[in-house]
Amino acid sequence: MVGKILAPPPVSRSVNETGVREGLREVDVVVIGAGQAGLSSAYHLQRTGFVPERDFVVLDHAPHPGGAWQFRWPSLTYGKVHGMHALPGMELTDADPARPSAQVIGEYFAAYERAFDLKVHRPVDVRAVREGDGEDGRLLVETSDGDWSTRALINATGTWDRPFWPRYPGQETFRGRQLHTAQYPGPEEFAGLRVIVVGGGASGTQHLMEIAPYAAETTWVTRRPPVFREGPFTEEFGREAVALVEERVRQGLPPKSVVSVTGLPLNDAIRQALADGVLDRRPMFDRITPDGVEWADGQRVDADVILWATGFRAAIDHLAPLRLREPGGGIRVEGTRAVADPRVHLVGYGPSASTIGANRAGRSAVRDIRRLLDQEPAAV
Ligand SMILES: Cc1cc2nc3c(=O)[nH]c(=O)nc-3n(C[C@H](O)[C@H](O)[C@H](O)COP(=O)(O)OP(=O)(O)OC[C@H]3O[C@@H](n4cnc5c(N)ncnc54)[C@H](O)[C@@H]3O)c2cc1C
Repeated sequence: MVGKILAPPPVSRSVNETGVREGLREVDVVVIGAGQAGLSSAYHLQRTGFVPERDFVVLDHAPHPGGAWQFRWPSLTYGKVHGMHALPGMELTDADPARPSAQVIGEYFAAYERAFDLKVHRPVDVRAVREGDGEDGRLLVETSDGDWSTRALINATGTWDRPFWPRYPGQETFRGRQLHTAQYPGPEEFAGLRVIVVGGGASGTQHLMEIAPYAAETTWVTRRPPVFREGPFTEEFGREAVALVEERVRQGLPPKSVVSVTGLPLNDAIRQALADGVLDRRPMFDRITPDGVEWADGQRVDADVILWATGFRAAIDHLAPLRLREPGGGIRVEGTRAVADPRVHLVGYGPSASTIGANRAGRSAVRDIRRLLDQEPAAV
């Protein structure tokens, strides 16, 4: 497969309201995103007979292979990730748990793209997906590197590009530094500082446990009391968590991350941090002041840094012209297919937003798309 010379995708001229669209490239499937979800989809497309570059393309706006992993902070070593499932068709073996996951997984994804000759286009930013100009039921994918016309779309854009940053009164008056998990540089930068960490998920607890030995003082605030989970992560428990998220997207609500639903595993490090008082949680503050935060009852904590470990939302703004969103704010999906538009599949969205979920969803999206495209064009 490596080195095979492929015919380029057909180029057509098409007209829209702005005039003649030069060099519009046509494929059957555009995959947006080359993280776990996009690469797994590309693998299954290829196995099902779609040829990269001729029948499908993968577009990604990040500079290097690795999906969002390439941006994760250096202290998130491979040994600290919750459990990374290998991509389909190629194991990730002998990885050094002490190396940053950004490097380990970046190298693994790069090797995967080479091994299966997936020819990912990068950096290519997809700016909008809209109805095509013609009557042939095609979608138009507008990018920083020209436009594509496609019969089906796999959206695998993850969440990293949409950090969720809640707003609190007085936030703009804070004289210290505010940053989000997406900008977390590792613990050393917080040496000698008073740090407030907001958020009761996996990132919040990991940041706290890392920063505490360096910082002058840490404070942990969360909206709800954190849920610690005793015992092993069984398959049945995982299935229940996925079912909860699945039900949300079926109702058209914004999905919660699977990891947020599973709770925090009570491992030795967390037990120790609880015993040491590092994970001593306070309820959410009511306002931010120039010097720190305040609660309604008058209590206050002064701080140099507020670190928002408040999660991410689905990065799907480029799909807005398709009007897929429900009044609840989410996109209703059945399996991976957008209920409002069977040409569009969301992989790595909602219940499939985990490495294992993305693998499975990639396979199921491709099966569905194959069926759709095998129908008469009129039916599509
Ligand atoms: C800190 C953290 C730790 C995690 N740890 C684990 C773990 O241990 N185990 C686990 O199973 N899951 C973990 N997850 C969840 C994890 O993110 C998913 O499991 C999985 O890696 C996401 O894959 P993805 O392909 O959906 O998204 P991503 O890896 O984010 O890939 C999306 C790709 O789409 C590209 N993209 C986005 N928008 C556009 C656009 N408009 N145009 C072009 N390209 C675009 C991005 O550049 C990116 O390469 C973690 C998440 C976080 C935030």
